[in-house]
Amino acid sequence: VFVRTRRHLLVYDAGPAFSPEADAGSRVLLPLLRWRGEPRIDLLMLSHRDTDHVGGAAALLAGSVVGALSSSLVDEHPLLVRARAVDIPHRRCEMGQRWRWDGVDFEVLHPTAADHALVPPPRPNALSCVLRVRGSGASVLLTGDIEAAQEAALLVRTPQEGLRADILFVPHHGSRTSSTTPFIEAVAPTSALVQAAYRSRFGHPAPDVVARYEARGIALSRSDRCGAFTLQSDGGQRCEREAGRRYWHHRAGPAAPG
Ligand SMILES: [Zn+2]
Repeated sequence: VFVRTRRHLLVYDAGPAFSPEADAGSRVLLPLLRWRGEPRIDLLMLSHRDTDHVGGAAALLAGSVVGALSSSLVDEHPLLVRARAVDIPHRRCEMGQRWRWDGVDFEVLHPTAADHALVPPPRPNALSCVLRVRGSGASVLLTGDIEAAQEAALLVRTPQEGLRADILFVPHHGSRTSSTTPFIEAVAPTSALVQAAYRSRFGHPAPDVVARYEARGIALSRSDRCGAFTLQSDGGQRCEREAGRRYWHHRAGPAAPG
């Protein structure tokens, strides 16, 4: 996810590795940065260590200018070792961190310092950095792969309205582990975006999770159907496969009858 303010760029997660030679960093994100004319990534936030989130990160560190790194990775993780070698500062993502870029507020809501200190360490999903971004036009909640227990913890400790967001990045690719009803109702988004692989072998997003959003009138967009998806704080939205369709493009989605 690219979060662009007037003068800053935050990149949240770096996508998967496809093979030892190819990953989302080299094949998707670096070309996209170049095409957009982005001179640098001010902050690269890696939600957690699973390869579908950090697989492209080494390519970003090697092929772009990264100002700083935030993550839930342990200090010995190879990506952090690499970042240290080239003097990119790293800060563990932790509840309470906040900053403002160009009038847009960023706040880390999860994990807590206590979560980071747990022995044995929690599963990677449970440590996903949760980031809330609030501009004058719209607010967004980025959730990584948090599951029901983290959603419940967020509900307990986040002050009322603290989870509210216009746009929710559906946790854990729309998996059944997440998107509990109280969480969806606390965030109360008007639209939600599922990031899932095309024909996901995990069945993401789960049909009952999709139904949970639809039952509340929340417009659900899916990366497996849109490819790139653009949201602007003035409300503009662009689903790339729809907006940029060519006659030779395969129409993703339910197969046509017959
Ligand atoms: Zn994931």
